[in-house]
Amino acid sequence: MTRHGFFPCGVGEKTSRCGCCGHRVRGWYDQRDRLVRDLDLGPWRIWLRIPVRRVFCTRCQAVKTERIEFLADVNRYTDRYALWVGRQCREKSVKAVAVETGLSWDTVKDLDKLYMAKQLEAHPRPAPRWIGLDEIAIASGHSYRVIVHDLEHKRPIWVGERKGRGREAVDDFFQSLTASEREGIELAVMDMYGPYRTSLEAHCPNAVVHYDHFHLVKNLGDAVDKIRKAEYKRLDGDQRRYIKGTKYIQLSHRENLDPRRRKALDELLQVNRRLNKAYLLKESFRRIWTFKSPAWARKFFDEWRSSLRWQRLQPLEKFADLVESHWDGIVRSLDPKCKVPMGFVEGMNAKIRAIQKRAYGLRDEDYLRLKILTSTLPRL
Ligand SMILES: [Zn+2]
Repeated sequence: MTRHGFFPCGVGEKTSRCGCCGHRVRGWYDQRDRLVRDLDLGPWRIWLRIPVRRVFCTRCQAVKTERIEFLADVNRYTDRYALWVGRQCREKSVKAVAVETGLSWDTVKDLDKLYMAKQLEAHPRPAPRWIGLDEIAIASGHSYRVIVHDLEHKRPIWVGERKGRGREAVDDFFQSLTASEREGIELAVMDMYGPYRTSLEAHCPNAVVHYDHFHLVKNLGDAVDKIRKAEYKRLDGDQRRYIKGTKYIQLSHRENLDPRRRKALDELLQVNRRLNKAYLLKESFRRIWTFKSPAWARKFFDEWRSSLRWQRLQPLEKFADLVESHWDGIVRSLDPKCKVPMGFVEGMNAKIRAIQKRAYGLRDEDYLRLKILTSTLPRL
């Protein structure tokens, strides 16, 4: 059972500070008790009864509530209580914290926002040298927001407010930097998606582009899935039965599948020649990341591409065109001397999906943005 403990708590200062501007003021206008929540003590919910004065501030020329240092900016909570709630929200959902504390969802969120703002204040964004441009899907995949990571310091540094992932949405980020910060960007890792590169080239004269493994694999997977969908449409009856629900099976590596799924994959590849070919091509493309010399990678790719001939696997041909036209940036990311943590963006994407899952039902983009921006920062 929850119990409540109330403690009178005089602030005991002769003079007060204006809550608005911080100006010291003698005397006061009036005084009222305020109940303020502090850290729980075992089963006890602790409330401090604090006499809060209103003062006439000579600087603001108005009656203002006095400033009390240990109170959070969200009224009726002590600063340390707000931080405690914020810490809880790092591991638990807003709902779970609301149930545990008896606070409303909105209050939990407000206190957590306060906590995260302090985290960001304690860890200002350094000037980025290596960045990763990406997007996150929000509103169940109906909309995108551009997101930028600092790959050197391994932290997300920007989540766009503009809808979509077009040129303007990427420009917003670069325009939020100073001119010298833009010049300081040496490298950008991104998807082979036009607006990212055009925006980068327009703003960062010293940056080179890398196309990473993660996005390349994603593009390849999309191509294979298009073939699967086309086959499903083309066929009927029994032939079709083998294809249904095999998207993830086909996108996985055979050795990672459990025996039941492996069997389903083998059956599918046996009955459908085109999907079999697409699967083998997808799997063999992986070899490109084993080459350390650009010349050998090139030779491999040319051979891979020529094996597409006569196969009528149009989505894969398109993928090959894409690789061809972005070859410079792909080769750069194969360089073993490159110290940029290429896997960071992929790991971050998984982390963001977990955050979105936990924040589900809130539909508060500001909150989501803060959650992402603080997700790699140490706790306060
Ligand atoms: Zn004032």
